[in-house]
Amino acid sequence: MTVFAKIIAGEIPANIVYQDDHVIAFADLNPVAPVHLLVVPRKPIVSVATATPDDEQLMGKLVLAAAEVARQQGLEEGGYRLITNVGRNGGQSVFHLHVHVVGGRALGWPPG
Ligand code: 5GP
Repeated sequence: MTVFAKIIAGEIPANIVYQDDHVIAFADLNPVAPVHLLVVPRKPIVSVATATPDDEQLMGKLVLAAAEVARQQGLEEGGYRLITNVGRNGGQSVFHLHVHVVGGRALGWPPG
């Protein structure tokens, strides 16, 4: 069971900023910017690489929820970044699909 599954199950605490039947969003434990949230489907998909056509609607809900939490956090005007890391080279460390919402400062490009 991943840490995100435990957060979804209510077994470990998190600073939850949004939730509905399909998606939950909470603050990252180790933020890399003034606002750093994680938007996570309740369904335990490993990454976008293992999502299937059955997940098409859920993937849309995930991205729209990310935009909604960014709006709620006041990031829309200044802009922000959505990131989903996949696998080893992608830097994924928790193997339950999640979208990082990062903002509140200017972000460099390309990523290191
Ligand atoms: P990844 O590296 O897989 O793209 O991102 C995983 C993220 O989860 C990291 O940014 C890390 O700080 C965050 N994280 C790891 N464990 C926990 C936890 O127990 N609670 C919360 N809120 N975030 C966590």
